Amino acid sequence: MTDDSEPATYEPTKYRPFEPGEQIIVVDSKGRQYLVVLAVDGEFHTHTGVVPHTEFLGQEEGVTVRSTTGARYTAMRPTLSDFILRMPRGAQVIYPKDLGPILMIADIHPGAKVLEAGVGSGALSMTMLRAGAEIVGYELREDFAQRAQENVRTFLGEEASSRYRVEIRDVYDGIDERGLDRIVLDLPEPWQVVKHAKVALRPGGILVAYNPSIMQVAHLRETLAESDFELPETVEIMLRTWHVEGQAVRPEHRMVAHTGFLTSARLLGPVPGGLKATRSF
Ligand code: SAH
Repeated sequence: MTDDSEPATYEPTKYRPFEPGEQIIVVDSKGRQYLVVLAVDGEFHTHTGVVPHTEFLGQEEGVTVRSTTGARYTAMRPTLSDFILRMPRGAQVIYPKDLGPILMIADIHPGAKVLEAGVGSGALSMTMLRAGAEIVGYELREDFAQRAQENVRTFLGEEASSRYRVEIRDVYDGIDERGLDRIVLDLPEPWQVVKHAKVALRPGGILVAYNPSIMQVAHLRETLAESDFELPETVEIMLRTWHVEGQAVRPEHRMVAHTGFLTSARLLGPVPGGLKATRSF
């Protein structure tokens, strides 16, 4: 910065008051959170009484209201994480702890053409859509596909929905798309997809699989080792929250010790002797 530089000016923040139909997170004095869908004639019921939705409507994020018995409730818009943890689910979702790293490992970027299978409740779809991906989803179950598409529309809206197409089909039978940038899998037998991924991905494309069991990982890694995929890697993400209160500053006693393993590899075409050999030239 030079001495004559002007301080940065920002557009004034555009406040957007709460509207009917919106989802908000309501937090009570103990930090408990509730997802509420606002309606003109709606009421938020808790053990401490009732708050009519009209108390929230037209207000801004951060507003605090009181229930009929005087308990305080603060309202804000849900983050993607908040929504994923509370949205209606068919299948088990991938949790935010793993969703963030998947974006980096799969290198999801605006315009990336991604095949996702299966889509389940759509938690991973929403995360990749918000990072700008264009997704074709393959899902066996019609009801899950519907649910995932509803969740996407509810939280991300029409623009994201226009980048999201879900087909009811078995990805083990093959992939129709060609020139894909990324393939992201959350299903029981990812090794069955490797031969299809090889023709569907463009060179340099990335395959990522989320799997709860290390036996699945071992099988997938064996199949990848016999394929044109290179640079295979398997990681697990451990997340430990801390209790911070006065002098009591320590890790929380309990943690979620295991969710799943993330395995990735890149399609780099047939290199005689494999990529490692070519590096030593
Ligand atoms: N990642 C999702 C959850 C996926 S659960 C989320 O974050 O919400 C696994 C899904 O894979 C289930 O919905 C299941 O129906 C689907 N599935 C399993 N085998 C499949 C296959 N061979 N082809 C397509 N979908 C499959």
